Amino acid sequence: MLATLRRIIDAVDRAPALDAALAVVVREVKQAIGADVCSVYLTDANRREHVLMATDGLPPDSVGRVRISLHRGLIGRAAERADIVNLDDAHTHACYLAITDSGEEPFHGFLGVPIIQHRRVLGVLVLRRRMARRFEDDEVTFVVTLAVQLAAAIALARGSGELARLQQPGLPSHFLEGIAAAPGVGMGTGFVVYAPADLDAVPDKPAADPEAEVRDFRGAVAGVAEDIARLAERMGGTLRDEDQALFDAWRLMLESESFVADTIQRIRAGSWAQGALRATVADLLAEFDRVDDPYLRERGADVRDLGRQVLLRLQHGAAPQADYPAQTVLVGDEVSAMEIAAVPRPSLAGIVSRRGSASSHVAILARGMGVPAAVGVLELPVSRLEGCSMIVDGYRGRVYVEPSPTVAAEYRRLAAEERAFSAELEALRGLPSETTDGFALPLYLNTGLVVEQRPLGIDESAGVGLYRTELPFMVRDRFPGEETQRRHYRQVLATFAPRPVTIRTLDVGGDKPLPYFPVHESNPFLGWRGIRITRDHPEIFMTQVRAMLRAAVGLDNLQILLPMITSVDELDDALDSIQRACDELQEEGHAVRLPPVGVMIEVPAAVYQADVLARRVSFLSVGTNDLTQYLLAVDRNNARVAALYDELHPAVLRALKQVTDAARAHGREVTVCGELAGDPRATPLLLGLGVHSLSMGAGSLLRVKGVVRSISRTRARELLGRALLCERGACVRALLMDALEEIGLGGLVRPGR
Ligand code: PEP
Ligand code: MG
Repeated sequence: MLATLRRIIDAVDRAPALDAALAVVVREVKQAIGADVCSVYLTDANRREHVLMATDGLPPDSVGRVRISLHRGLIGRAAERADIVNLDDAHTHACYLAITDSGEEPFHGFLGVPIIQHRRVLGVLVLRRRMARRFEDDEVTFVVTLAVQLAAAIALARGSGELARLQQPGLPSHFLEGIAAAPGVGMGTGFVVYAPADLDAVPDKPAADPEAEVRDFRGAVAGVAEDIARLAERMGGTLRDEDQALFDAWRLMLESESFVADTIQRIRAGSWAQGALRATVADLLAEFDRVDDPYLRERGADVRDLGRQVLLRLQHGAAPQADYPAQTVLVGDEVSAMEIAAVPRPSLAGIVSRRGSASSHVAILARGMGVPAAVGVLELPVSRLEGCSMIVDGYRGRVYVEPSPTVAAEYRRLAAEERAFSAELEALRGLPSETTDGFALPLYLNTGLVVEQRPLGIDESAGVGLYRTELPFMVRDRFPGEETQRRHYRQVLATFAPRPVTIRTLDVGGDKPLPYFPVHESNPFLGWRGIRITRDHPEIFMTQVRAMLRAAVGLDNLQILLPMITSVDELDDALDSIQRACDELQEEGHAVRLPPVGVMIEVPAAVYQADVLARRVSFLSVGTNDLTQYLLAVDRNNARVAALYDELHPAVLRALKQVTDAARAHGREVTVCGELAGDPRATPLLLGLGVHSLSMGAGSLLRVKGVVRSISRTRARELLGRALLCERGACVRALLMDALEEIGLGGLVRPGR
């Protein structure tokens, strides 16, 4: 049986198109099992029916003609329950549905096996026999195994639009589901990017003339550096400063000791340049691989990309010039930041990547450039999309391939509406963030993740609500000293003064380890991270706090925020240390002042002790990113469980309610600095909860302000009351969407239809 199974699977793989693959399956399975009929029904969700797509045993003209409503008959039962139906006599079953002209009448034995991909039922594989006898266990397992393989081929055909064309050429197009990475609607022609040079394929070879190889290598590095400089220049003005900094990061990486010197050393030790480069990149990637942090992992992808670019130069002398369509939808298994930057901005209509998450560089860049993007589109048939007409719905993370004229017309209308809507948002610049009944909700900026000279949103924000200090620690090869840190913090404080700047103490560990401070743990998110590390290493904590206090001298706009607090002891120790640092500095003659100190509420323990924590500090800041992952036990970086990660889950809302109530009881202010704060849908809820401010990425400031200025606090409270009664995140979302539509701001989170 195994050999037969392999043979059929191979034949399915080799089939040029889905209908050919299905023809192979029905013929071969019928024969292998010795059944009288084998058929495949595929589900057409648009028409809510299962369509007979291939058969061996029923009249050939029933293909495409026999259609069964979604939940009817034995096929509907197998699909609906996503379970096997194995009957000795189908005719006697209550669900049996006699279909005239289907030719099924003489058959009694029935086996229906659902074809499932990623929990979605794509169709049903059906076997029939004349005799009234159930199918044997090994026959059933054979069909189940095959159905799993078939699911992948069907999913691919769905992705390329082939299935929709086979099922119903005139119907609205099927779409592929991914993660919404950058809002907007992009329409254009698929342009597939793929690895230009395959580092893994480079063989080992000795260097015939090491010095000549060194010269070639240096030339290739210089060539790539020039490419980057050209791209940076081309992008100048269209990118935010923080995104522009990516180019500097690439250049630094390209010209770093570990990249250049290590490769040259390998060449001088006898390897040819390409082999030496491969080994250097592999070493660097191994280092990045040991790290779980998404930002650092992205840097790993950058190293691989740079390695490929240098290899391409070594192999061919110069990078080829691509011929981009006028409206390019950039498509790839993994689209790199350099590949995005290479497309002339006016031609770039959208970005679609099979891999990636909302926090990957491709998403950050796309948002920065205002290019609609969908990432993590798992069923994306990358190799078939070159030259295809495509639509990227960056609001929902959907991708349409070869859309029907109706769908295309609808999206053209939405794109036009969106252009008008963006112009309206711009008009909010400089206006106060105030509800219609006069309640001010200051909006602060989250910053610190990327090197930035002058963060975007400076003029729009009330200050910095969260300055993450991890980056200055990550980009070095040792802990930065007090003076280095002081200069760094001073720059941020001075940029925003007199507005407050909340600087968070080091939150490394867990998913953000430092390259020079390796921590190997089997469960890092529950391990040594944030305050746990700095509490165990007072010298690191004291240095950082001293640097912050000194940086604020004369400006006095510093607030200190403590991450990952789980217990009162951690907080008390940290507060003692801050007091001690302040006393010491004053004794040393520095004019430092004790700043307001706050705690992050980002683990469930802190929610339940929000009252006792609030008593000890000046303010609470809710980190909904971690709070959601810890409350729901869903790794915030794991694409496999991404669908379960829900910041609007009723449990998260109740936690927020508990925190705001506790803070109010102690007269303390609460801010929210997780991603939820920048989600316009959540704004009414956060207003209703009575949070005092929100802190978010620059791109969200105007969107959130738009909601604040369109709603009253009374209405927000009423919405919150209803949201708190919801039992599911979906119910909360629907409620909030309706509320946004009602105030005419539905376009903030989805195209207006
Ligand atoms: C959070 O957890 O919500 C937060 C703001 O911190 P970070 O994303 O840096 O973990
Ligand atoms: Mg956090």
